[in-house]
Amino acid sequence: MEIIVCIKQVVAGDRVKIDPRTYSLVRSAESSHINPFDLFALDMAVQLRKKYAGSITALTMGPKISEEVLWEALSLGADRAILLSDPRCAASDTLATSYVLGMGIRKIGRFDLILCGMRTTDGDTGQVGPQLAEELNLPHIGNVEKVEGERGLLRIERLTDGFREILEVSLPALLTVSPRRTVRLASLIEIQDAFTRCSIESWNLEDLKADPAKAGISGSGTWVEGLTPLTQEKSCVLIEGDPRQQAKSLLKKLIERNLLS
Ligand SMILES: Cc1cc2nc3c(=O)[nH]c(=O)nc-3n(C[C@H](O)[C@H](O)[C@H](O)COP(=O)(O)OP(=O)(O)OC[C@H]3O[C@@H](n4cnc5c(N)ncnc54)[C@H](O)[C@@H]3O)c2cc1C
Repeated sequence: MEIIVCIKQVVAGDRVKIDPRTYSLVRSAESSHINPFDLFALDMAVQLRKKYAGSITALTMGPKISEEVLWEALSLGADRAILLSDPRCAASDTLATSYVLGMGIRKIGRFDLILCGMRTTDGDTGQVGPQLAEELNLPHIGNVEKVEGERGLLRIERLTDGFREILEVSLPALLTVSPRRTVRLASLIEIQDAFTRCSIESWNLEDLKADPAKAGISGSGTWVEGLTPLTQEKSCVLIEGDPRQQAKSLLKKLIERNLLS
């Protein structure tokens, strides 16, 4: 089974810096890491390859520093890693991101399955998986927990509101993977092995034969008009009285704040 796993480098939540002019995220190596949701997709790919053979290609769109997440993917078992990188991709929204990823996948050529994370911990839209499926005209199933089957047909298990759903989908297809799995981290030996055994391919928009008007800001259907940081006010209230009075007073305060009715 030929599998492509889409992986994004995200900015660590506590180190988010915003460019005050463009409202885009300022990315740097020390403030970025692999999107944790993508580890579940990669892990599913490794399990599928164990069972059905084939190969795994890790794919990311981002600046040069995004190579780091590809090294991580190679350490965790990917066979091939491709970085889609071009200054004209900067500030892409999800539509432009899906277009560029789609062009990368067209250039890769043959594949059976594309796996994405459910969402990211920075942009957090959960749109790229379904949009990429649309871009490539593929069937898409979200929140997938278990995959079985071969020869052009997959049997999928996923949880919806209170139901376990069993679905079948024909290949090629795109799945977004449920985070309800356990993942493992790469060992030092695996990291060392990836650096000696593998390399990263880097493709720009010319390599992809992509239309620059569909990438970056010009290809984005949405943009950030403004950003207002949220401030959180915290205060500590000591409730006086004996335990009965304290309980009454607490109950009153919770009702006043619509936390209890
Ligand atoms: C209105 C709007 C405006 C934006 N403007 C800017 C901007 O000006 N500058 C800017 O830097 N960003 C901007 N972004 C963020 C940008 O859209 C995201 O970085 C990117 O499109 C991915 O979206 P996401 O993080 O929500 O991914 P999700 O849709 O939450 O990701 C789902 C899955 O898709 C895959 N995936 C997502 N992104 C990638 C990727 N790059 N490579 C490989 N796989 C991927 C992963 O498997 C991931 O788990 C904007 C977003 C929005 C909604």
